Parts: sequence; structure tokens; C-alpha cells
Amino acid sequence: MPASINTARDLLRRTFGHADFRGLQTEVIAEVMAGRDALAVLPTGGGKSVCFQIPAILRPGVGLVVSPLIALMSDQVEALKQLGVAAARMDSALSSDERDETWRRLAAGELDLIYLSPEGLMQAWALERLRATPLSVIAVDEAHCVSQWGHDFRPEYRSLGRLAELFPGVPRIALTATADARTREDISEQLRLDHAAQFVASFARPELALSAERKHGGAHARVSALVKARAGRSGIVYSGSRDGAEKLAERLAGEGVSARAYHAGLDKTLRGDRLSWFLGEDGAVMVATIAFGMGIDKPDVRFVIHADPPAAIEAYWQEIGRAGRDGAGAEGITLYSASDMAWALERIRRRELPADVALVQTRKVHQLYGMLDGTTCRAQAVRRYFGETDAAACGQCDRCLNPPIGVEVTLAAQKALSAVHRMGGRFGRGRLVDHLLGKTKGVSESESAMSTFGVGKEFSPDGWRDLIDQLLFEGLLAEDPNDGRPLITLADADAVRAVYRGERQLTVLKSPEPHDPSTRSGRPRARRDRTPVAVGEASGLFEALRVWRRAEAARQRVPPYVIFHDQTLADIARAKPAELADLAEIGGVGQGKLERYGDSVLSIVSQRA
Ligand code: ADP
Ligand code: ZN
Repeated sequence: MPASINTARDLLRRTFGHADFRGLQTEVIAEVMAGRDALAVLPTGGGKSVCFQIPAILRPGVGLVVSPLIALMSDQVEALKQLGVAAARMDSALSSDERDETWRRLAAGELDLIYLSPEGLMQAWALERLRATPLSVIAVDEAHCVSQWGHDFRPEYRSLGRLAELFPGVPRIALTATADARTREDISEQLRLDHAAQFVASFARPELALSAERKHGGAHARVSALVKARAGRSGIVYSGSRDGAEKLAERLAGEGVSARAYHAGLDKTLRGDRLSWFLGEDGAVMVATIAFGMGIDKPDVRFVIHADPPAAIEAYWQEIGRAGRDGAGAEGITLYSASDMAWALERIRRRELPADVALVQTRKVHQLYGMLDGTTCRAQAVRRYFGETDAAACGQCDRCLNPPIGVEVTLAAQKALSAVHRMGGRFGRGRLVDHLLGKTKGVSESESAMSTFGVGKEFSPDGWRDLIDQLLFEGLLAEDPNDGRPLITLADADAVRAVYRGERQLTVLKSPEPHDPSTRSGRPRARRDRTPVAVGEASGLFEALRVWRRAEAARQRVPPYVIFHDQTLADIARAKPAELADLAEIGGVGQGKLERYGDSVLSIVSQRA
């Protein structure tokens, strides 16, 4: 290892308070320190920021960071200031005085890092000033925004390729959490990183317990039960629509949950207020559309629930990935239905995309539902999708903990398919179920005369709905969303014929309740409690530290975790340091924080000891 890596590690310990590099951080930093370009693909929470912050501080000149969102910039800049690093951002939310001051500090060489949006950066006068300043590194964060294959495409990002010729000799690093090969190629081409080394980390997120379930009727009732079972924890609930987010937030708030809605239809100030509320409050639940996305770096989000499914596996991993960023246990729970899939496909059709783009997007939808409705380990399925062919089963998702049993239902499937065929695709699922059960209200003579009318007495209505879902997910039936009054039709004729002929067997999944030897009846207890931070008998001290942190955060008008993470407070509570030197040993306590908060923390510890 070159000497510069040791210097970098010292900085990581001293300033950032972390014991050592994680994952690919060493390799990425070594590359940039050597003045070469790099493309780093690290999962959300994987520690991308230090990959450019450390070279920015250690190399001569100021580090230029391009970031898509003001929220994202202000969070990082705030966190850096807390560490004692000279960082500033330049964006439209600043007053002209603040901007002048930042430009002055830049010119005077007083800054280690400056954050800009792509639009801000590419303005002639900004480029001019930056060209007059020696740069240590140029970092393009959330680099997948450059790719139209991705889900966050931002046309402004395309202009960033010009940085190659505008700042020759300055190492450039692109960072993203989106890994598919196509997006990576696009980043490399658009940002002109053809000679850059690529670092692709494992996408494992061992702290996340994943689960997914089909929606049964009112998804809001289910979400509310899930949220209430996690009382006092911070979480994000994703809704597919603004209206859905509002209604769900209202319902949760009405049931005593500390919940608010967030979506792009709210005015900017209100959005800002709600974001600060979420960041600052313990146990806050945000019910949001995907407008609440990038830049939500709150480390102690304990669950992400999709009340409606995400757009693709990339989006799934990013959204779920907002839970457990502090490395402590967290959950990702997804509710989905065949109608959601039908809508997703319909939206692609309506967008009239170029044929190749539409094909890619359609495939992504099928891959997402294949994972959600599939039988294999969810984490493994996602990691395979990202190219990690040797990923092992996670051992903690619903599929691993409770492997489903397949029940053969070929005969019933034949009945359902044949009923759809006879009914000519003019009806929805409810009517189809009634037909099979022979319960259609005011049935016409021609319908009651059909050979499929009332042939399905073996299943309950729910049983049939489940089977119909299965046929939809397997592509034997298709749903035409028909503007909210969906119709069911036969899909792939060859596949349907194979089922009729008995060449293709059909199974539905039944999740058996696992036996729990620790209960008297053998029935499982309520879901295993994933305690995020284990504090044990030190919990009194932990709570006292949290109270102090809340007050300190309010005083400085920053989110509490910018002061110290929960995990750090828990470690302090357990270790009960008596001296500054002991406190400095604890993960998350760097030099800057030791100087700022060391005495206060020690005095709280000593009062309680
Ligand atoms: P992302 O890759 O999502 O941008 P961040 O850079 O925000 O992730 O880092 C995620 C969290 O991991 C932060 O809280 C950060 O302090 C922490 N972190 C980063 N590097 C290390 C490390 N080497 N050891 C311990 N924690 C780290
Ligand atoms: Zn698993």
C-alpha cells in the first residue's frame, strides 16, 4: 500500500472517527489519491462520501462535488462542518451575500470541498471561477442520473462530460448505488471516464431483513398494522400516488402515529419543514411518494414499507436501502399486487418510448415482480440481478425464514382460464370469482348456462383471488387496467394451451406457519424484534445521552444524528468512558467531535455512573 493510504487512514480515524476503511473504500481512495479517474459502485449506506471527501482534503486544491439535490448537499456539508472540515455549498437557496462569501473563501483557498448542482456548475461564471482555482478532485455523486436506462434520469447531468476537457489533469470520480452493467456503461461513456478503473462493491446489506406480500384488499389497513407494530421507530412508507400518501398519512396520524405526508405537490417550504421534522424527530414516519428520495441520509430509519411497489429492482434496492444506514438492523417490507404490475406495464405503453427503451423497462417490471412473487431468497435474487452470481441466501428474509410450500392447482387453473375465455375478457376479477363460485348477482341466462358457471366451489373467494393473481404473475392471464376498472383477459395463447393440455403444471404458494419450539403451543411469537441498538442495562444513560443530543441538535438547528449516531451513543452508554482518551476510542468520535462535545458527554456519563 502506498504511504498516502496510511495518511488517508489517519484522517479517517482522526477526523471521521471510523476505525478503518470498509469494503472497497481503500482501493477507490488509493486510485483517486494517485490522480487517476474512478467509477465506484457502492450500495446505499456503503460509505461513498469518504471516497471523495478524503482525497479532496488530502490532495492540494479544493474538491468539487456535483450533487443533484440541495437536500443532499446541505446534509453532507452540515456533517462535514461538524467534523471540522471546511465545506460549503453553492445553490439557489443561498442569499447573494452567502454566495459572495463562499466565492471569496474559494478564491482564498480556505475551502476543502465545495458542493454544486450540475446546473449551477455549468454556468459560465461559475466555471470561470472554478477554473481559476486549483482542484484536488471532481466527484460526480449519484452518477446514474446521467443514464436514461436508470430511474432518476436528469438531462442536466449529460453536460458533465465536458468537465473532462475543462479541467484536464484533475482526477474525476463518479459514484452511484445503481449497478447494472448498462447504466455503468452509460456513466462511463457520458462522463468520459473511458480509462477509469471501475470498483463495484458487493450489494449485500446484511442488516436488512426483507419481506414482501401480496395485497389483500385494503392495503392501507395492512400498512397501518405494520407501522403500529413498529411504534416509536422511524420509518418511510412509500405510496404510489400523492393522494395515496396524503390519505395514508392522515389515517396513521389519526391512529396516533407520528406521521406526515411528503410529495412533489406540496409547496417547497412545507416540504422543507417536513423533511426537517423527519430528520429531527425520533420515531417519525414519513408517508411519501418517490419525490422523497435521494438525499434522505437519516441513518436511523428502521423500516421502509412499500404500500405500493417500486418501479424496478434498482429503485427497490435504493428505496429499501434508506433503512439501516447506521448498520443496525432494519426492515424492508413490500406490498404488491397483480394490478400494480398491470399498471406498471400500461404506464410504459402510454409513454410511447423508443422501442428499445420500452423493451428494457418492460423487462425490468417483469424482473421486479419475478423477485417479489418468487420463491427464492430475496436478497440473493436482488444481488444476482446486480450481477453477483455467487451470492448466498441471506438467512433472514421471509423466504429464508419461512420457505413457502407449493400446492398443485392445475385443475383449478384450467377452470379459471376457461372461464376467462368463455366470458370473453369483458369482466374484472370480482366478477370472475363470482362466476366460478356460481354467485353472480342478477346473472344473465347466457352466463348461467356456461359450463364454467359455478364449477369452482372448492375454493373460497380469497382462494380464487390468489389463484388468479398467480395466473397474472405467470403471464397466463393479463389485466387491462381500463382506467381503474380492470378487465381480465387470456394472455399468452401457447402457454394457456399448455395448461389446458396438462403439459404445464401450476402451483400456488402457501406459507406454512413455522413451528416455534419456544412457545407452548408451538405457534410463532410475534415477529422477531430487530432491536436496532442493543444497550441493555445501560439504557438509562443511553436515554440521557439522547436527551442531551436532542437539545444540542435543536440549538445548532441540525438533525440529531449529525451530532452522534444512535450506535455511537449506545457504545458510549456501554463503555462509560471516564476520560477523553477513552471516548476517542469509540466509533464515530473523531477529533472534531471530541473537542466539541467531549466534555459534555463525559459529564453526563459521570453523573450517571
Ligand atoms: P452512501 O454510500 O450511501 O453515500 P455514506 O457515505 O453516507 O453512504 O455513508 C454511510 C454511513 O456509513 C455514514 O454514516 C458514514 O459515517 C458511515 N461510514 C462511512 N465509512 C465508514 C467506515 N469506514 N467505517 C464506519 N462507518 C463508515
Ligand atoms: Zn433470504
